[in-house]
Amino acid sequence: AKRIHTFRRGAAERTADALEALGAKGSNLALLASLDLPVPPGFTIASTAWREAAATPDALPPALRADIGNAVAWLEKATGRVFDGSERPLLLAVRTSARTPIPGLAETVLDVGLNDRTVETLARELGDAGFAFRSYRRFIESFASLVFGIDAGEFEDIADAEQAAAGWAREPQMPAEWRRLVARYHEFIEATAGTALPQTPLEQLLGVVESSFASWRSPVARSFRAVHGIPENTGLAVTAHAMIFNERDQNSGTGRARSRDFATGGARLTGEFGFGGRNAVPGVAEGGAVRDLAGFLDGRSADAFPTDIEALGRYVARLEAHVGDAVEVDFMVGDSELFLLQSRVAKREPAEAVRIATGLVGDGVIDEEEAILRIDPASLDQLLHPAIRNRDALTVIGRGRPASPGAASGAIVFTPEAAQAEAAEGRAVILVRNETHPEDIHGMHVAEGVLTIRGGTTSHAAVVARGIGKPCVTGAGALRLDQAAGTLRAGDMTLHAGDLITIDGSSGEVILGAAELELPSLAGELAQLLLFADRARRMGVRTNAETPAEARAARAFGAEGIGLCRTEHMFFQGDRVPAMRRMILASDEDGRREALAELLPFQRSDFVELFEIMAGLPVTIRLLDPPLHEFLPKGEAEIAEVASQFGIEPRLLAERIGKLEEFNPMLGHRGCRLAISHPEIVDVQARAIFEAAIEAGERAGAAVVPEIMVPLVGLKAELDFVKARVAAMADRVMAELGRSIDYRVGTMIELPRAIVRADAIAEESDFFSFGTNDLTQTVFGISRDDAANFLPTYEKKGIVARDPFQSLDVEGVGELIALGVEKARRTRPDITLGVCGEQGGDPASISFFEQTGLDYVSCSPFRVPVARIAAAQAAI
Ligand code: PEP
Ligand code: MG
Repeated sequence: AKRIHTFRRGAAERTADALEALGAKGSNLALLASLDLPVPPGFTIASTAWREAAATPDALPPALRADIGNAVAWLEKATGRVFDGSERPLLLAVRTSARTPIPGLAETVLDVGLNDRTVETLARELGDAGFAFRSYRRFIESFASLVFGIDAGEFEDIADAEQAAAGWAREPQMPAEWRRLVARYHEFIEATAGTALPQTPLEQLLGVVESSFASWRSPVARSFRAVHGIPENTGLAVTAHAMIFNERDQNSGTGRARSRDFATGGARLTGEFGFGGRNAVPGVAEGGAVRDLAGFLDGRSADAFPTDIEALGRYVARLEAHVGDAVEVDFMVGDSELFLLQSRVAKREPAEAVRIATGLVGDGVIDEEEAILRIDPASLDQLLHPAIRNRDALTVIGRGRPASPGAASGAIVFTPEAAQAEAAEGRAVILVRNETHPEDIHGMHVAEGVLTIRGGTTSHAAVVARGIGKPCVTGAGALRLDQAAGTLRAGDMTLHAGDLITIDGSSGEVILGAAELELPSLAGELAQLLLFADRARRMGVRTNAETPAEARAARAFGAEGIGLCRTEHMFFQGDRVPAMRRMILASDEDGRREALAELLPFQRSDFVELFEIMAGLPVTIRLLDPPLHEFLPKGEAEIAEVASQFGIEPRLLAERIGKLEEFNPMLGHRGCRLAISHPEIVDVQARAIFEAAIEAGERAGAAVVPEIMVPLVGLKAELDFVKARVAAMADRVMAELGRSIDYRVGTMIELPRAIVRADAIAEESDFFSFGTNDLTQTVFGISRDDAANFLPTYEKKGIVARDPFQSLDVEGVGELIALGVEKARRTRPDITLGVCGEQGGDPASISFFEQTGLDYVSCSPFRVPVARIAAAQAAI
């Protein structure tokens, strides 16, 4: 294989596997050269040469030495300069070029080719002895460090001694002083290394190449490769190019340019430039402030750009067109001549990525689909929530699970009542609980954010917080909450109600005090990108929403209906709780019916509002699901209070509550089991839905077709029972109101048995919605409320790659979903299939749902934009 590949503007000896053979820097220079962009001429010794050398006893085999000699001869012609020349000496910059950055490899050596003669020639050529000797000094130091392993500090000591003797200030002033310093350096090297600094440029170059090759085996590089799984025998390339005197004077300098304005996404040269001479004196930054390229372009800058800035703009534009993405180039100007040294696809923040992607489409660089693929959907989350502006100097007092994204600050409150009282006074509060329960929801609604000591990413707090778009951190187990004392302890710090904290639901951090927050602006570009996504995707995107606020937020984010309305959440608004409790605690059916009758108008008006907000889009309403005891008071004080409201003995109330207690409520009396034991609940919910659908339909002048969903079905007979009840109520309402209504009945599929019996269950289901929260819980046999106790350890130890409650377990739970889909379609080819668990908003899971052929995903309102992009990516 070819050992050395030359490059110069307009011509590069490239190979098919350029990155592999020439490394990142070498292949990049070859690319720039081949695009006729100005690069300093040079050559790259390929990694094949490294491997060849590694296989022989010679550090540098003779054939390679000969090739390097020939490459230098070529470079002398290309530059019109000569190694060791008595005028215009050729000087080289030599760097290692690995495929990926690896620490521990040789540092760049500049000015290879300087010796006691050429330093004088250079001084004459440039008329600047100081510059020439400064360069020589730097070369000697880096050569000695790389090749002889002499520490740079040793040279400093020599310089200090020489300075004391000669009396110059920061560096030698006269050539004679410089020469004396260089002589001292030579003596020291000979004494220390037992050999002199080579005075022949080719020998210098071979020495640098040999040591660069050897640096592949340095202990730091080895251990880095071991950790990152980079094979030992990959080896590295070495690139040498003609020196650019970018640090010389006001006609020189160094800069970084980008092809786009990241603030707008538009095509425009942006970046910075620093005039030369900045590092004229080693270690002392001097003069040359860094300037905006924009200032040169629009004439605001007091100084002139030392070369043609329009040309630079054309170069980066050409590179962008070739790469098809916003690029960033490192460039140098030496004596008014411009050179590009390195380029890369420009790094960007999520908001910038959106602007750039749409900008590239606008300029015809990429098409809409490519723009969608350029966006990391998960990163959009960040754009839709407040974030901490400045992370320096934050005091992190605890860490938990990042349960609902965004940051929030406020005063600590320990009860939902306190949250309401404080919020009513206009104060921002963070609700801190060991864990939350349905009766905390009103407190969560008014709080800025929620922090729980226990729980994982699908705990009650997490699910509710995501639904209402509030930041939430769960499972901050190192914090100690003492409800009775009203304290929150973090290590030896004790916080009280009213103390300010900040939670970051994107990182899981709990921070002392109120951090500065910023609300990222959603410019038109995100909307445009989402429009591209809507054109590209096949699956629908619905939302999980119960309140009007959530439904409206979801519509604004582009939700195409409600995929899950958890009706239980509706019973936890202030005045509804007592009726709900009376219903649960009633000793007979009549008592229950009486209490339910009180709840009916609330439910009906809730549903009317949801139907109106969704304006004809599907609304899937789930019948009551959670274990009933979740609605009941806990603890003596609360029980006493409720007992007095009901006018009964606290002891009696406690007894009734005790009867409802379950060992394993998640696998207990919940879901459709409630409907079967208390069908009157179904009656009231179905009545509310039908009456609301008729009312909303009449107001809108278009029929509303509600979708009624039965939770936790495992047996077809369960569905049959509930469905019959719903149908009977539909007939009754139609008869009473003299109107006909159309409706659909479907099931949640969230138990393994429901999957296995999906073909039978589909006979009676207009739709299925896979409840992947419960399905994950029941397939794994992992309690979703206790998972946080050990799943983080599983992740840390690599037992699971990701929390299966966040990102679908494709090979287990996913396989079952695929089976359920196949069985369902066998019975009922036109069945509507969706998913409404948390994974419905997770990009990786969405990709699986697309492959499985689901019709839609349903997710929290704030995940809707993420899901739109992810669904499009999955379909492209
Ligand atoms: C589910 O189980 O996936 C689901 C959406 O229902 P919930 O989270 O209310 O149990
Ligand atoms: Mg469920």
